[in-house]
Amino acid sequence: MATAEKTVHVSEFTNETFIDFSKPENRKRMEDALKKVKSEFGHEYPMWLGGKKVTTQEKRTSTNPSRPSEVIGEFQNATAEMARQAVEDANKYFDTWKKVPAEERAKCLFRAAQIVRERKYELNALVCYEVGKTWIEADADIAETVDFCEFYGREMLRLAEPQKLTPMRGERNYLVYIPLGVGVVVPPWNFPCAIMAGLVVASLVTGNTVVVKPAADSPTIAARFIDILFEAGVPKEAVNFITGPGSVIGDVLVQHPKTRYIGFTGSKEVGLRISELAGKAVPGQIWIKRTVLEMGGKDAIVVDDEADIDAAVEGTAQAAFSYQGQKCSACSRAIVSEKIYDTFVQKLVERTKKITVGPSDDPNNYMGPVINQSAMKTILDYIEVGKKEGKLLTGGKRAAGDGFFIEPTIIADVDPKARLAQEEVFGPVLAVIKAKNYDHALEIANNTEFGLTGAVYSRNPEKIKKAEDSFHVGNLYLNRKCTGAMVGAHPFGGFNMSGTDSKTGGKDYLLLFLQAKSVAEKVSN
Ligand code: NAP
Ligand code: MG
Repeated sequence: MATAEKTVHVSEFTNETFIDFSKPENRKRMEDALKKVKSEFGHEYPMWLGGKKVTTQEKRTSTNPSRPSEVIGEFQNATAEMARQAVEDANKYFDTWKKVPAEERAKCLFRAAQIVRERKYELNALVCYEVGKTWIEADADIAETVDFCEFYGREMLRLAEPQKLTPMRGERNYLVYIPLGVGVVVPPWNFPCAIMAGLVVASLVTGNTVVVKPAADSPTIAARFIDILFEAGVPKEAVNFITGPGSVIGDVLVQHPKTRYIGFTGSKEVGLRISELAGKAVPGQIWIKRTVLEMGGKDAIVVDDEADIDAAVEGTAQAAFSYQGQKCSACSRAIVSEKIYDTFVQKLVERTKKITVGPSDDPNNYMGPVINQSAMKTILDYIEVGKKEGKLLTGGKRAAGDGFFIEPTIIADVDPKARLAQEEVFGPVLAVIKAKNYDHALEIANNTEFGLTGAVYSRNPEKIKKAEDSFHVGNLYLNRKCTGAMVGAHPFGGFNMSGTDSKTGGKDYLLLFLQAKSVAEKVSN
């Protein structure tokens, strides 16, 4: 077997640098990109099925949550039959794609990373309009996309090398990682480029073919990224891009007998449904479907009475309200020691009142809109629940403007068992919970069905150690906020109802898309 390193030389992985928007030239480039992307609003995007463009009579649109009357892109509305055919097509091409050497597949990812880098401002602008991310949040999404391509490309080169086994006398033995088959990729809208791209490129670089169904709220950035993959040399037949309601075509894709695995990120409800449907073998199915399911969170920041209170206030405000609280890692519970509770709460409210809310393309706004009308309603309903369960300290209603703007909202004195302390709201709503002491705070922190991210602020090393041992989350952060995981540095994924703990951006991730074949031949010696 040729080793990958002989043919592809790569530098060590490093994270993509974020854009410094304090520089006037960078601000100008972003403003120009926003104008350019706006001039392309309303463009129609085809599906890509079996290597061909496909359109339907019926269309769907993607709109701008900052100004809902603006149509960003027009999309096709696939039928259930098209979804079935997409899996068949992907399955047909699997035999070809799986034979392409790992180095060639990795090179496609490196080329895609380069194209994304070259178009960074434009892609940032599109994310900013399509899902209401501010410049900085959109830039982080696109930078993470580059990181996933660079990181998984390198990981595949590593996994394609000869793997170390215990030598057996009288045998030639080796182990290779081979792909699984057709992957159905179902991403969410909240990291509309990074999560979608991560699932797709992890699938492709390992030699699988995919059917990707972007989230209804973010198909445009997905369509643009798929085009980049084609430009980077990925054959069109390897990626089937299908648009339509998840509730209709999702089940069909998951249940198809030729579907080998499902890579999903989204809500607990949909994740559990996929797990259940995938677990039931259908006629013609000859494998156990694998599922990679990353789901919701009810992430907490614990503030100990020995904490740097100002740092904790800043970290909590950012983790609770950046991207309007719509990150799976967002802080939705601040659990605070009673000794410092009043001081912390007062400072946090002061800090939160400084947050500006409005259209996300205007860099003066720290918070943009929530994703859509129905999310806005759900969040406002939760705020009403919260007002009964605790004390509203700031926010609590829609903010001015046509978009889906909600004020950053803090509800204090919430009981640890209250709905606001247990259910994922997925919006700019923070529950503050009082704890008797540090141990009590950790107990409250662990007391939900989720286990995604968590943070602790304390200057006491013993307490920090205790959190390391007993705070049961997939991503624990100490004396820093609980959002902002970086590829390679913070492999990401949660425990319990937060998912299957796939650890995206980590060294174990690609194995989820592969199976190992062990070969041993008797030789004379
Ligand atoms: P969602 O409503 O569960 O949707 C996720 C995806 O599933 C969308 O593409 C959706 O399509 C699709 N879908 C809906 N019904 C389906 C079905 N029956 N079968 C197959 N697919 C179906 O979640 P979301 O609102 O997009 O995202 C927010 C959620 O994602 C939050 O709970 C958040 O915590 C979680 N999240 C978790 C992570 C993590 O790493 N753990 C990261 C990001 C987000 P449509 O859009 O067409 O309905
Ligand atoms: Mg939209």
